[in-house]
Amino acid sequence: MTCQRVAADLPEAFHPVNSVDYLPRQLLRHLQSMRLRQTVAAAYQHFPLLRQRMHKQRIAPEDIRTIDDLVKLPFITKTDLTDGDPDDWLAAPKEKIVRYQTVALLPGKVFTVPFTVADLRLWHQLLVRCLAACGLERSDVVLLPGGRYLFSQAAMLSSALEALGAAVVLSPATHPDQLLPTIKRLGVSAICTPASYMLAMVEQCQRHGAELRGLALRMALLFGEPTSQQTTQRIEQAAEVKVFEFFGLDELFNPGLAGQCPVGGLHVLEDHCLAEIIDPTSGAPLPDGQSGELVLTTLGREAMPLVRYRTGVQTALVPEPCVCGRTLRCIRPIAQQGQQLLSVQGVSVWASQIEAVLQAVVGAVPPYRIVPATADGWGQVELQVEVTPQIIRDQVAALETLHAKLCEQLESAIGVAWSVRLVEPHTVGRQRS
Ligand SMILES: [Zn+2]
Repeated sequence: MTCQRVAADLPEAFHPVNSVDYLPRQLLRHLQSMRLRQTVAAAYQHFPLLRQRMHKQRIAPEDIRTIDDLVKLPFITKTDLTDGDPDDWLAAPKEKIVRYQTVALLPGKVFTVPFTVADLRLWHQLLVRCLAACGLERSDVVLLPGGRYLFSQAAMLSSALEALGAAVVLSPATHPDQLLPTIKRLGVSAICTPASYMLAMVEQCQRHGAELRGLALRMALLFGEPTSQQTTQRIEQAAEVKVFEFFGLDELFNPGLAGQCPVGGLHVLEDHCLAEIIDPTSGAPLPDGQSGELVLTTLGREAMPLVRYRTGVQTALVPEPCVCGRTLRCIRPIAQQGQQLLSVQGVSVWASQIEAVLQAVVGAVPPYRIVPATADGWGQVELQVEVTPQIIRDQVAALETLHAKLCEQLESAIGVAWSVRLVEPHTVGRQRS
């Protein structure tokens, strides 16, 4: 085969760091099976709860030979992680741990995720692949905005972008009046940020008569929170950009588990992350195409190798191969992660927390809506609550008391300040907008 022929066979968006994305399935399966055996051996050796469950099911690490044997293994849940001693989920000596990341896995329950140098290197490699997969080039200039809410992933993302050869613009600014001159002067071609920040920027530009269209901007790289189809469309239309989503989980790598290709497939990096879909009630594996709970097994994680980790994420594995030519399977876009509604100033917020405060203050859970960003600035949210006709009939003072109580209790329960607006009945639906 000539060099010209090889070049002609490569997809247009091919980048050398993505070569593993195109492995023939048989080779990928061999690689996955080898890494699965290593993961299971390490997890069995270091995690008492998993060992106990495997003994109960009469399974030994030697019984896991290929990825077909995965279904024999017990699940690990978020509760398993948060209720146990964190050291019971540590598979590397403490002196090898170079980073701890605390994450709120469940309402009010925090877990500390350990990383070794090898884990951070792996995360970096996965991010570089995700960023290259969406077609970023050396000529791209990528803005990482953040201000006082600068996200914790910014350092890893900027390092991965620089490794690709793109120019990174780190900016503390959040307001379009401050950002637009930089976007224009440096020819920013991509903005990398959580979806709610990007949406806030688009809406602020519209309010201030600023125009994101007609600039060099061509991509929005969104991560860190589920993104609805409406949000994606709104951003794409208002800013004339193509949206690319990256999927991850704080307890594994976030982002860095799956990334979108130019034709829209959300490819799981299966050489380092085995994906299954199960029935959330029975735990039975579901066929490709059927929606259920995403279960992930890490392949190559050193400090905390997890087998059959129940993520709480609702999605499905796409049965058809992606037309981009990658052999990695795709999952459907993530619209919601279990009960988690959104991330507010870096704090995970669950519907149950909001509803518990409403129940305590109002005495019921009236229809409510969370608007992720307001005119007050990025990272801010507004909770809109329908008040009952009874309250409306009462004095203004009663409304003021209700408003003050909701603000106070939300901040106390969730840990961040909230803007609350009381609205008339039948004006909002439940859940975030
Ligand atoms: Zn694809």
